[in-house]
Amino acid sequence: MTEEKKPLQIPEGISYNCQGCGRCCSGFAVGLTLKDYDKVKDVDWASKHPQLAGIELFAHREIEFADGLSPFPIYTKAHPDGACPFLVDNLCFIHGTLGESEKPTLCQMFPYTFVGTPKGVFAGVSHSSMASVRNLGRPLLEQREMLEGMLELNKQLQAQLKEEAGKTDDNVALSSMNLAPGIPISWDEYFLIEERMLSLTRQEPFADTCRMWLSAGEILAEAIRLKSTAQDLSLISQFKPNLSIWQDKVPTSFENLMFALLCFRGLTWPLIRRRRIQNNQKPASRLDILRCVLGVLITKKMEFPNCGSVSIEKSTEKLDALSPEIDHFMRQYLYLKLFGKTYFGSAMGGLSVVAGFNHLVATALMSLIYGKACAMKKGEREIAIADLYESVLLLDKQMVLVSQTSGQMALMYDQGFASPRVFSRLLARMERSLS
Ligand code: SF4
Repeated sequence: MTEEKKPLQIPEGISYNCQGCGRCCSGFAVGLTLKDYDKVKDVDWASKHPQLAGIELFAHREIEFADGLSPFPIYTKAHPDGACPFLVDNLCFIHGTLGESEKPTLCQMFPYTFVGTPKGVFAGVSHSSMASVRNLGRPLLEQREMLEGMLELNKQLQAQLKEEAGKTDDNVALSSMNLAPGIPISWDEYFLIEERMLSLTRQEPFADTCRMWLSAGEILAEAIRLKSTAQDLSLISQFKPNLSIWQDKVPTSFENLMFALLCFRGLTWPLIRRRRIQNNQKPASRLDILRCVLGVLITKKMEFPNCGSVSIEKSTEKLDALSPEIDHFMRQYLYLKLFGKTYFGSAMGGLSVVAGFNHLVATALMSLIYGKACAMKKGEREIAIADLYESVLLLDKQMVLVSQTSGQMALMYDQGFASPRVFSRLLARMERSLS
């Protein structure tokens, strides 16, 4: 049976329906095909709303697109605070004036994702929407017809992009992929590894969140070992991660520094950027960014949304164990990313499985640090799930930015996150602080 004929694979236990909050339309630029662009480029937007006057609405990447260095030829040009220029009074102005069918195809499909494999197309939802983060709405399993319609739209989008790029290869999603940089794997091999990692999300009684992420890293390390020594990857199904090696490990200075920089990029910088806009300041220059980073490194403090200045060292202090609700949320997060296969490969700018996985771990760790900072600020002993929702929404949007990078930057991410144990010491410390 070809991929076309196989039934669409839909994740279990995942729900979604738009709740109309308007928060999805910020945090990243939206990619447009040339056909999408043709629908909106000649409209005199400035005359239709003062908010659209005197600003650039689109960013052009046609040259990079033709060279295979950009996934889309055109992007919306987000406001410096990250909001889409067409977001007016919390509603889409294109939708309101021209109708839904004139919105960029990506927006019509949002937040659904589709990744083609030899076992069929796997559907998912991105966590860039609060409704999907909170798992609100009807179960996706009950919305098959709608999802199949979205899949059709996705196929049209891919065909359009292929035509506009002048490509002839049949299925980009089925092309080569790497387990780690320089270690190619087939889909069959990937599915063996994925199944072993998925089993972590089904364990009862549920493994503690940090141990789940640590175990997943160990599974990937073992998969690399098997692959590099030309052994049968099906052995991975029997592999039992040994987490005792991480029991007393503390992060190195380099790991602490790298994580602080990630927190700055994911949680602090969007805040500073927004504040500059509110204060009518110019967009930050590279020097401004460097100054802010140096400030963080010298003071060991940074600002987190809704909780003010946070001491990075203090946020590693002990709190009560995570609630079963948070453990469930984290397992569902990993399950959906694995099932949807959007964390690596063509959906993530060509990242290897390991590099993509490390982005997920970084998001989980940063969310927990954010949750701890919020709890400590409120004088509470336990992380609140609402704080975790906020951080996952914010950080997942940063992942979209990674998926839009290409060329040297994508290579840098791939090489920098090439080890499946890059965050293991940080995870071990987090586990100790929440037990
Ligand atoms: S074009 Fe419309 S739907 Fe798409 S991100 Fe902008 S405001 Fe939202």
